[in-house]
Amino acid sequence: MSRTSAPGTLYIVAAPSGSGKTSLVNALLEREPGISLSVSYTSRLPRPGEVDGRHYHFVSREVFERMAAADAFYEYANVHGDLKGTARTAVEPLLAEGRDVLLEIDWQGARLVRAARPDCVSVFVLPPSRAELERRLRTRASDDAAAIARRLADSRHEIAHAQDFDYIVVNDQFADALADLRAIVACQRLRRGAQLARHAALVDDLLKSD
Ligand code: 5GP
Repeated sequence: MSRTSAPGTLYIVAAPSGSGKTSLVNALLEREPGISLSVSYTSRLPRPGEVDGRHYHFVSREVFERMAAADAFYEYANVHGDLKGTARTAVEPLLAEGRDVLLEIDWQGARLVRAARPDCVSVFVLPPSRAELERRLRTRASDDAAAIARRLADSRHEIAHAQDFDYIVVNDQFADALADLRAIVACQRLRRGAQLARHAALVDDLLKSD
């Protein structure tokens, strides 16, 4: 297949904490190497096991605010009391090269990105039930009781914004949710603009008069 000359697609995946979004996104990226994950900047401290540069770029609040003032962020927001943001360098050059980019961001960031780039594809991941969301949050040992309570309360606020997204995936059975995500990517790649750019030579050839 010839290389596409069209810009890449910007995907947004949002969900309340405990929906299993990160595992889903990681599984998607393993199977779709053409999509680059943007590693966000955050002012929050690393949890045990989190690696700087892989899970987040961990910076002080001062450094984050200096970057924001210098317009280094594509979007940023205060999420659960911490600053989180997507660097412009993790998005703009890659899209221009025709690579797809995926942002794992909250509803506030999603709203900013949608306004800046209406052709982005946004997906909201829902947990299968409130009870399961609570169970997943409690079994994630890295947060204390106060943090869990806050995330549960915040989840309602986050879920209220599901209606603003293009697609909704319910993460009950992981394999089914992953298949749904892959179907969304496949549909996007089959859209007319992307296909005509990818297959320009084929279409020219098919339209040639005898
Ligand atoms: P964590 O559990 O890592 O502290 O927080 C996860 C939440 O922060 C999720 O809602 C996730 O989507 C959001 N988040 C992570 N990175 C970014 C970012 O760069 N921008 C925005 N707006 N939200 C982010």
